[in-house]
Amino acid sequence: MARDEREPRGSGIRARVARELQAMDAAGTRKRLRHLTTATGPTAQVEGRGEVIVLCSNNYLGLAAHPEVVAGAEAALRRYGAGPASVRFISGTTDLHRDLEQALADWVGAEAALTYASCWTANEGLIPVLAAAGDVLLSDELNHASIIDACRLARGAEREVYRHADMADLEGRLRAHAGAPGRIIVTDGVFSMEGDLAPLPEIVALADRYDALVVCDDSHGLGVLGARGRGTAEHFGLLGRIDVITGTLGKALGGAAGGFVAAGRDLVDYLIQRSRPQLFSNAVPPAVLGAAAAALDVLRREPERVQRLHANVAYMRQGLRAQGYRPLEGASAIVPILVGPTAEAMAQSERLFDAGVLVVGFGYPVVPEGAARLRVQLSAAHERTHLDRALAAFAAVR
Ligand SMILES: *Cc1c(COP(=O)(O)O)cnc(C)c1O
Repeated sequence: MARDEREPRGSGIRARVARELQAMDAAGTRKRLRHLTTATGPTAQVEGRGEVIVLCSNNYLGLAAHPEVVAGAEAALRRYGAGPASVRFISGTTDLHRDLEQALADWVGAEAALTYASCWTANEGLIPVLAAAGDVLLSDELNHASIIDACRLARGAEREVYRHADMADLEGRLRAHAGAPGRIIVTDGVFSMEGDLAPLPEIVALADRYDALVVCDDSHGLGVLGARGRGTAEHFGLLGRIDVITGTLGKALGGAAGGFVAAGRDLVDYLIQRSRPQLFSNAVPPAVLGAAAAALDVLRREPERVQRLHANVAYMRQGLRAQGYRPLEGASAIVPILVGPTAEAMAQSERLFDAGVLVVGFGYPVVPEGAARLRVQLSAAHERTHLDRALAAFAAVR
């Protein structure tokens, strides 16, 4: 087919992209990025708007701009430079990697850990390595997108998606695959759109009964749940009982990026041999490691940050209920308020923004159409005055 030289290349694709963006405009669902001009704290400055109360960051413990965390990043940057310019097994491993990985393993109650550029990458680097041909991956239907994609990469393994937190459904599928060489149950610890927890005690009991491995992505649970913020496993008294934990350095630990897999030593060593992001992608940069190490130090020294976070969650939930809102129940720091249509959630988020509160509406395709929601996230850094101002804004837009 001869191309008209005056038209840009890929005209069909360009036209489709333009059409879809227009459809989003028409439906009121097109996302617009807002530009923060300060660090993220309980508040932040947004370009063109000024100060807003931040009710949608993952900065659960208020560590994103903590002076010690920033200093940890700076010190690592000065000593090790921007990075080793290598993947881990060539010349990309520093003592900083080793020491942070041990600290992460100790924190979550595992033998060993391995860092990745993000938790997204950790899940994609882990699951296809664990699940060999013939094995069965059993995944909660509301698992994070990175788990869904990671399971798709596990070619040769069978995939079973069980109904959200439905243990009868999970057990049926485990029983049906009792003859497979391996069974792997994969679940979020805290579900990011619902704010509820995986029923880990029941999952562990089923895993015992059906000889399955349990993989828990605790990105929203670490730093948030349990008396010392050691995550969903600590919350349920199951520290050390989860076979594999994945997590991010970019939520409660306040980091820019970074994630990890924590597991037994053999499994971690196997990932060093086989996990494609380990073999073909750069090591996590020193500044990220230095920040995470400092964040863990602060958390160890100040577990009261976790209690402050829990108190803020309880306060916000009660305030919202007093106004007639019915947030979804859950023990995490995620408080979702169901709105319904995607465009309505985005419109409410816009009105809250005008009232000085940054809280984002999530709609299709992140959640099913008709189940759009405002997702409120609390931080230990919020003072009562921030929460009272936020509640006043909720009252005003209701
Ligand atoms: C946020 C999140 C991730 C992604 O973490 P990154 O380190 O930002 O890639 C993965 N899994 C879950 C469950 C998450 O909530």
